[in-house]
Amino acid sequence: MFENLSERLSGVFDKLTKQGALSEDDVKTALREVRVALLEADVSLPVARDFVKAVEAKATGQAVTKSVTPGQQVVKIVHDELIAVLAGDGAEIGQLKVDNPPAAILMVGLQGGGKTTTTAKLAKRLKDKQGKRVLMASLDVYRPAAMDQLKVLGDQIGVDTLPIVPGQKPADIAKRAKQQALMGGYDVYMLDTAGRLSIDDALMAEVEEVKAVTAPRETLLVVDGLTGQDAVHTAENFDGRIGITGVVLTRMDGDGRGGAALSMRAVTGKPIKFVGLGEKMDALEEFHPDRVAGRILG
Ligand code: GDP
Repeated sequence: MFENLSERLSGVFDKLTKQGALSEDDVKTALREVRVALLEADVSLPVARDFVKAVEAKATGQAVTKSVTPGQQVVKIVHDELIAVLAGDGAEIGQLKVDNPPAAILMVGLQGGGKTTTTAKLAKRLKDKQGKRVLMASLDVYRPAAMDQLKVLGDQIGVDTLPIVPGQKPADIAKRAKQQALMGGYDVYMLDTAGRLSIDDALMAEVEEVKAVTAPRETLLVVDGLTGQDAVHTAENFDGRIGITGVVLTRMDGDGRGGAALSMRAVTGKPIKFVGLGEKMDALEEFHPDRVAGRILG
């Protein structure tokens, strides 16, 4: 089990002499513990380093409040800084741009990350919470089972799916979805792109083409929150090549420490909008930075 950061820091500070303000040495000792805690929570090394620097700048010389121990005080500074990085300005958390109907939402990510499931979850949410008429289309021409999977989910949640026409290319299906959305009076159409086992050029080129023909209002990257450093690498690649507008972190019902969330935010600067919390269609929530901060702190 991970040792709780608060306990660790209390231990560190017990050994130090009490002073009126956090001294440079106090802070340095504490920050070593913070760094270890971040790395154990799967935060990437450069991100952990920058984070610790930011905390150091805030903590050094800060007056020690009478009511808390120095350890608690550093934990609070770390906690606040975690939330600041995880939330950004917070304006886009739980939000999707779906004005100017029909608005396209492009779903991207690696295979198995939870893209199809999340597409359906978001469609259900838009329908139930915002009363939107949603059309979903699968662009996964490589795996007919994935197309069927989206249809099955659509039937289950009462959201229409674009009829499957074998032999079409992803960009052609996307055009057909746009056409159908226009003619059918849909507010939103969601495009579930094909995933790959790893990032490759053909995948990126395909997604770029789909993006060009639909001009999506949102390009959401769906990543498995349990994959740690790989998730960060995936986010960096997709954002660099395609340009994403936000992230959905799946499998946050698992026991991951959530460090990937911090790294992804720090590296891409793109908002984490939602988290997946299970396989069921309503197991989707807006992202709560405080909960992830709590997990990272342990
Ligand atoms: P895709 O290949 O990216 O489209 O991935 P899928 O949507 O097919 O999901 C792969 C598996 O992960 C399925 O069994 C989903 O039910 C499961 N899954 C998706 N999101 C979550 C989540 O948030 N939590 C859990 N526990 N399972 C999930």
